[in-house]
Amino acid sequence: SAIVAIVGRPNVGKSTLFNRLIQRREAIVDAVSGVTRDRHYGKSDWNGKEFTVIDTGGYVLGSDDIFEKEIDKQVELAIGEADAIIFMVDVETGVTGMDEDVAKLLRRVDKPIFLVVNKVDNAQRAQDAVEFYSLGLGEYFSISSMNGSGSGELLDELVKALPEKPETESELPRFAIVGRPNAGKSSFINALIGEERYIVTDVAGTTRDSIDTKYNRFGFEFNLVDTAGIRRKAKVKEDLEFYSVMRSVRAIEHSDVCILLLDATRGFDGQVENIFWLAQRNNKGVVILVNKWDLVDKDTHAVKEYTRKIKQAIEPFTDVPILFISALTKQRIYKAIETAVEVFTNRSKRIPTRKLNDVMLPIIEHTPPPAYKGKYVKIKFITQLPTPYPQFAFFCNLPQYVREPYKRFLENKLRDHFDFTGVPVTIYMRKK
Ligand code: GDP
Repeated sequence: SAIVAIVGRPNVGKSTLFNRLIQRREAIVDAVSGVTRDRHYGKSDWNGKEFTVIDTGGYVLGSDDIFEKEIDKQVELAIGEADAIIFMVDVETGVTGMDEDVAKLLRRVDKPIFLVVNKVDNAQRAQDAVEFYSLGLGEYFSISSMNGSGSGELLDELVKALPEKPETESELPRFAIVGRPNAGKSSFINALIGEERYIVTDVAGTTRDSIDTKYNRFGFEFNLVDTAGIRRKAKVKEDLEFYSVMRSVRAIEHSDVCILLLDATRGFDGQVENIFWLAQRNNKGVVILVNKWDLVDKDTHAVKEYTRKIKQAIEPFTDVPILFISALTKQRIYKAIETAVEVFTNRSKRIPTRKLNDVMLPIIEHTPPPAYKGKYVKIKFITQLPTPYPQFAFFCNLPQYVREPYKRFLENKLRDHFDFTGVPVTIYMRKK
């Protein structure tokens, strides 16, 4: 989704607006990298249009005594990465020197800028706000992020300015190549596509830096949602991790299947795990590629042992393909793509209702849900929901009495009979 950055000097009320925008929605990546620990980005939507909000100010450390150059940096990043920028100022303090500096940077920018005057809680302050015309950014929005007034008008205009979803959504598998920096994502992509001639077309994504490229390779057609090459363009080194997380989030959201690369010599560490769960939570297919396998001293148990460790980390969603590859020697890169295509097929699979019931009802009859608080649950009917990824509704008399372990049992039976390898499966209990 499009990215909206909130910039401005400390204490103008950026986080209050941010919290209001994301409301009770979950911040998207609670756990990915240290940066997000304070929840400085989250998802929002207005009139059905989704976007991601970044509170850049909150990201700068010790933002209470922020230095001017840090603000500049924050603004530069927002300029580079966001699709629209909210520049927040404070009517209580009036125009400050820092505001003028930020305005100067923003005046050069060819992106939608929303000057937002905050703390306009009464008529006097509405009067006072006119001085912000002097920033040379044109019309402004008066809001009170504390009580919410004015934010509706702001949001109306904001979502109008955001790029539309591309019309070109194709039926082809969309693979996002994700992983930590240096896992070998670029090398993998290069090994995969080799020469330019495999590129069929370029389809611009929602923003200038999210490019889907259509490939025809090994007899498969697919789109790559590429994040690897982009990072090289970033100027500010220290902030790379933050925006590389943002890009992963976007690439994952944009994909059907995430090809998660890790460096075999570094292992399946916490960061890799976070990316894995991000894909899982977004109901994306997943293929795990242990890259740089050429560097690993392989005894007979190496693959088995490595696989065991990864599966342990990804409990209970262990029905995921794990391949050992080398982008350098091109070992098994064909197999990797073939597997990703299979996962894509599993994810788009639709099980006919009749077949689903024929298979599952006898299993349920044989092993019914355990009685809960003396009540017996009777499951009568099962159907797959018409969602783009596998979700199943089990209709029964007392849905609230079916506990997690039994749902997991049902999920495993579905996996045994219908092959959902690499794909998260969701089970709902519904009242008939
Ligand atoms: P990215 O940050 O994930 O795009 O990683 P790169 O593709 O830039 O790779 C990081 C480093 O790992 C580079 O020095 C690559 O040459 C090296 N590398 C990537 N894949 C392999 C591999 O399969 N084997 C070995 N030995 N080195 C690799």
